Amino acid sequence: MTQIPGNDPTFVRCADELRAFHRGYLRSACWKAAAIMIPAVFGHVAFDAPWLIMVGIVITAAFVIIPLQTTYQQKLKSIICPHCGKQAGRVKERGFFPQRMFLSCIHCGTETATDCVTWCNGGKPEKLDPTR
Ligand SMILES: [Zn+2]
Repeated sequence: MTQIPGNDPTFVRCADELRAFHRGYLRSACWKAAAIMIPAVFGHVAFDAPWLIMVGIVITAAFVIIPLQTTYQQKLKSIICPHCGKQAGRVKERGFFPQRMFLSCIHCGTETATDCVTWCNGGKPEKLDPTR
């Protein structure tokens, strides 16, 4: 959440932080998914129960993929608005692919550009070219 020092208070740098969050989450998500899917596959083979795979996929979605979205959205909402110093609470995406991400503060109503671009809502952001 550091801004460009003494430079532009209307620009929030959060891409590195958000990317690190995604990396860290996906690493643990791989282990969780494996912990769910490996027994499901074994159960499928051992008991000839193909529905176990479906159950495994549903459990993986419920406990790994959906929490990624919710924790990531919370993370986005906790980014500090540089104008009022409170958590901005809302993020908007603008433009066509890739979309630029803006903070849209629920406290002071100010929109602040970030250094993030995203290809999909809630997906791992890319860092914007710092020269732009
Ligand atoms: Zn604000």
